[in-house]
Amino acid sequence: MFIHGNYSILLPICSFCLNIFTLKPITCVCSFDIEKTDLYNIREVKKMLINNDTIIKDDDPRIRQKSQDVPLPLTAEDEQLLRDMFQYVADSTDEEKAEKLNLRPAVGISAIQLGIPKKLTAVIVDSVDKNNEPVRYQFMLANPKIVSSSVQQAYLEAGEGCLSVEKEHEGYVVRSARIRVQGFDLCTNKMIEIRARGYLAIVLQHELDHFDGKLFYDHIDHDNPYKAPEDAVAI
Ligand SMILES: [Zn+2]
Repeated sequence: MFIHGNYSILLPICSFCLNIFTLKPITCVCSFDIEKTDLYNIREVKKMLINNDTIIKDDDPRIRQKSQDVPLPLTAEDEQLLRDMFQYVADSTDEEKAEKLNLRPAVGISAIQLGIPKKLTAVIVDSVDKNNEPVRYQFMLANPKIVSSSVQQAYLEAGEGCLSVEKEHEGYVVRSARIRVQGFDLCTNKMIEIRARGYLAIVLQHELDHFDGKLFYDHIDHDNPYKAPEDAVAI
């Protein structure tokens, strides 16, 4: 926890995690290191309006575009974009906000879904850890890359959905059951390695596919949409 002091006198929200301050003394539970962040730059950049109308859909050819690495440290513009994407995901599962702000519930979003071909993605996944305890995984990732994948595969029994896909596409999307991802994470402000399994592994692979212009239904075998390897994990 960091105390963000009197920054909120100028701005009623935490500049780092965008939480709204309501109480004094002003404290915020986000984990950004105030010393390492250029507040002035963050404030200069305009917030991006992200809602169901500004997210591009799969009839827009830009969704098939390949995304590029972003420079590190992040520019103020890329940092703000990543925070706005994260805010979208956070707000989208709040029923009231989602209705008011025209948001579709999501666990992840990638920059290309806003027509911006940059390797930036924000993910919030409520899942369970290896001891079956509930856990929230949240990341604001720049340039994440899968560095290893298990041979064993997994799929969501309910199938996948995407903010850029409005039509239903039934069938299993078979992916690696476990992956390791390396990249810069703005939530912790450092390079991280994520060892993901289960639902988180699926979500990360879905989001990183967007960097290659791939959509979940590209993976569905349209002749046999519910085909999955026998040893694949059903989630
Ligand atoms: Zn998607």
